[in-house]
Amino acid sequence: MTSAPVPRCTLVGAGPGDPELLTLKAVKALASASVVLVDDLVHPAVLAHAAPSARIVHVGKRGGCKSTPQAFIHKLMVQAVRDGEDVVRLKGGDPFIFGRGGEEVEHLRAEGIEVEVINGITSGLAGLSSLGAPLTHRDHAHGVVFVTGHAKPGDAGPDWAALSHTARQARLTLVVYMGVSSLGAIQRGLLQGLPAGTPVAIVQNASLPQQRQALTTLGQLESTMDREGLHSPSIIVVGDVVQGARAWQSGTEVQRQAA
Ligand code: SAH
Repeated sequence: MTSAPVPRCTLVGAGPGDPELLTLKAVKALASASVVLVDDLVHPAVLAHAAPSARIVHVGKRGGCKSTPQAFIHKLMVQAVRDGEDVVRLKGGDPFIFGRGGEEVEHLRAEGIEVEVINGITSGLAGLSSLGAPLTHRDHAHGVVFVTGHAKPGDAGPDWAALSHTARQARLTLVVYMGVSSLGAIQRGLLQGLPAGTPVAIVQNASLPQQRQALTTLGQLESTMDREGLHSPSIIVVGDVVQGARAWQSGTEVQRQAA
């Protein structure tokens, strides 16, 4: 007698935007899924890897339903798995970097569902790379911190002042996700420990054709964002490594002028 298969669900990272940044493993999982629950910020071309017969459910704010409540997404996932479907939960970037992947996994496991996680390239990595600079050049940084600008209700969020002192002392690059709506508070907090001249890059829609960016300083962060009209989704990178992006940009400018 064969035992019943363990119910399972696959959390798949769709990468930062460019559909070509998908992993081979993600492509395989999509091809065998019968149901795909899709988040915001997943490029539509990624869904071309799903079988034509697969049911695609958009559960993000921009996907049609005005911000599907998280509890409903949990319910949909569990129901689809119980119905015997091969379920892929497709999330922007990496499923385990912000974006509530952790909560989804906890919920599924509590329901006795086995979860496989397929990493994606997180937007925090794509942001500065798309400007030609590394997050950890050894001349400038000993490490990197991924931090959210948007905490859950009731949580005060990161202590930006403390973080700024640590970043300075330990020479860490700061990569801020979801920072646009609290930019003023982030800037004020970080200025407690970091010089106003600290280089900053803002990258909107990293890795996509509509990518826009600005290179500025911590002291000018909010005014640059306003002046350039940059908005969400954006990654904000704070630290000396951003000098690499400046050098690359002026290099390409020189090449353009010489051409
Ligand atoms: N799991 C995702 C992050 C989800 S939180 C990941 O690993 O990338 C959503 C935030 O991610 C956005 O507010 C923005 O800060 C960032 N983000 C996602 N895609 C982005 C992109 N293409 N360009 C810039 N920032 C992006």
